[in-house]
Amino acid sequence: MIQMSGVHKVYDDGFKALTNVNLLAKKGEITVLIGPSGCGKSTTMKLINRLIEPTDGSIQIEGKSIRELNPVDLRRKIGYVIQNIGLFPHMTIAKNVAVVPTLLKWEKPRIEARVDELLSLVNMSPDVFRDRYPSELSGGQQQRIGVIRAMAADPDIILMDEPFSALDPISREQLQDELIRLQQEVKKTIIFVTHDMDEAIRIADTIVLMKEGQVVQQGKPEQILRHP
Ligand code: ADP
Ligand code: ADP
Repeated sequence: MIQMSGVHKVYDDGFKALTNVNLLAKKGEITVLIGPSGCGKSTTMKLINRLIEPTDGSIQIEGKSIRELNPVDLRRKIGYVIQNIGLFPHMTIAKNVAVVPTLLKWEKPRIEARVDELLSLVNMSPDVFRDRYPSELSGGQQQRIGVIRAMAADPDIILMDEPFSALDPISREQLQDELIRLQQEVKKTIIFVTHDMDEAIRIADTIVLMKEGQVVQQGKPEQILRHP
């Protein structure tokens, strides 16, 4: 669970990017942050990832302030998926998926088993894909790898910043459905950023609607629809 209480973020140039943001993202749910460009979605994600510090307010993971977590523990707890995937082109799919477990010095057999398990989880046969390179995969397949890479070391939290927005509409809907199915199995705390309301309605358990640095609505998709 992630809880933000009374969070303000003023950038160095004086720009107020977030004003009094309160947000609750529950374990086992997909919480979608939605709003127009510049409303503060990325700022919110960077705060949770502790790439930047809040000017005021508190951010807690499982009831504990992220300030009290050391940076290594925070990295272990949070997986991050970005828009342009960011796979390493000169590394095989297996090596890409294994980046974090390798950094954490897992034993080789454990890493290999985990890679195969994750590939199977997104219906990509390990024997077929393990030794391929990213350029040999479709956009949708690459993005699946981006998702399972973020999950490799079993983080509690997965932050996804417009992960599917570069995909064609059909691959995109496929991945949305897969994410829902995956989440039913893994039950993480997922925060998903998009500016596409159709995507939000399709995948969200909770929608957080932002505007000009503030949360203007927070609720189940049908509640957001009823009170636009
Ligand atoms: P979104 O992700 O919703 O598009 P951002 O969180 O990236 O919005 O940005 C929110 C606002 O804060 C924007 O107006 C942006 O220009 C501003 N902003 C973001 N980063 C900085 C920064 N480092 N310094 C000053 N202003 C920033
Ligand atoms: P995003 O795709 O997340 O909306 P942006 O293009 O808004 O990204 O920002 C890219 C980077 O530039 C971010 O690290 C952000 O913090 C920084 N940034 C954005 N707006 C400003 C700004 N007005 N002043 C300084 N840095 C900014």
